[in-house]
Amino acid sequence: MNERTVIALGGNAISPAGTAGTAEEQTTNLHRAMAQVAELVAEGHTQLVLTHGNGPQVGNVLIKNELAKDVVPPVPLDWCVAQTQATIGFTVANTLSYELRRLGVERPVVPVVSRVLVSRRDPGFETPSKPIGPYLTDAEEVARRRAAGQALVEIPDRGWRRVVPSPKPLASVDRPAIELLLSDGAIVIANGGGGIPVVDDGDGPLHGIEAVIDKDLAGALLAQELGARTFAILTDVPGVAVGYGTDAERWLEEVHIGELRGYEAAGEFAAGSMGPKVAAICNFVEGSGGRGMIASLEDALEALHGTVGTRVSRDGGP
Ligand code: ADP
Ligand code: MG
Repeated sequence: MNERTVIALGGNAISPAGTAGTAEEQTTNLHRAMAQVAELVAEGHTQLVLTHGNGPQVGNVLIKNELAKDVVPPVPLDWCVAQTQATIGFTVANTLSYELRRLGVERPVVPVVSRVLVSRRDPGFETPSKPIGPYLTDAEEVARRRAAGQALVEIPDRGWRRVVPSPKPLASVDRPAIELLLSDGAIVIANGGGGIPVVDDGDGPLHGIEAVIDKDLAGALLAQELGARTFAILTDVPGVAVGYGTDAERWLEEVHIGELRGYEAAGEFAAGSMGPKVAAICNFVEGSGGRGMIASLEDALEALHGTVGTRVSRDGGP
């Protein structure tokens, strides 16, 4: 099997809400998922790219910045994203290398510190929309953060969360390096946390800009740029539901893109969580004709075999 596959790992699935999110916890969660990804590789998936979210992790880096601002200079948000690419990239590479070796598979796993181009004029800079960091339940803290100029949104039943600008990803800057690594047999980790957002002002170097790109949209873009056959988003729920959280909740299995777009238009998918996943999968499937899926990180292998989760197709109905 020489097909390219792009797998997006959810930041919340790596560091679930309600857990402390220690390095040990995140590493344990990744071991479980990477054991399944390693099996997939052992089955013959030769060209594999992993990307990952960083919502909880980048929020924590920002909190450290805030708390330490009188001791060490705070760094911009694009640097925070780069930091999460390094720590999550390291952990994914380390856990996957181990799980591959256990199966007797020798393959280099290479995390790429990767940039994604955005536009300075993107409307996302006017209206912050990307939730990051912990869920906040203390009303006083919410008020204090608002007074300090932060944007926060209320997420039903879970609390408040800080939101930051999330411009649309336009191009994966490091795609040539990713192609090179793939063609030489490496498993590549790229565009983590949506990629480090950069703008091209035409004055020489690219410039980092303060934002967090949605990792599902950046993953779908990369999957299309690489001509991937499969794009899988692995998260902390079993797939896509209509009537999510209501008595009429129904989990979608095989679904045609037109049907999914219909539910999207009817407002079934929350902004900042399932909304961008559905948009990303639809972009990918529409643009490439490939296979798109959304499933639980816990079911990674079965999901990639197409037996669980929500599977989205373009041609022919379900
Ligand atoms: P990740 O870190 O994987 O990107 P998110 O929290 O951004 O995770 O998105 C997954 C969350 O989307 C789920 O935990 C669930 O609460 C939420 N969600 C919102 N609408 C839906 C829906 N219609 N179907 C399934 N999950 C939904
Ligand atoms: Mg998300």
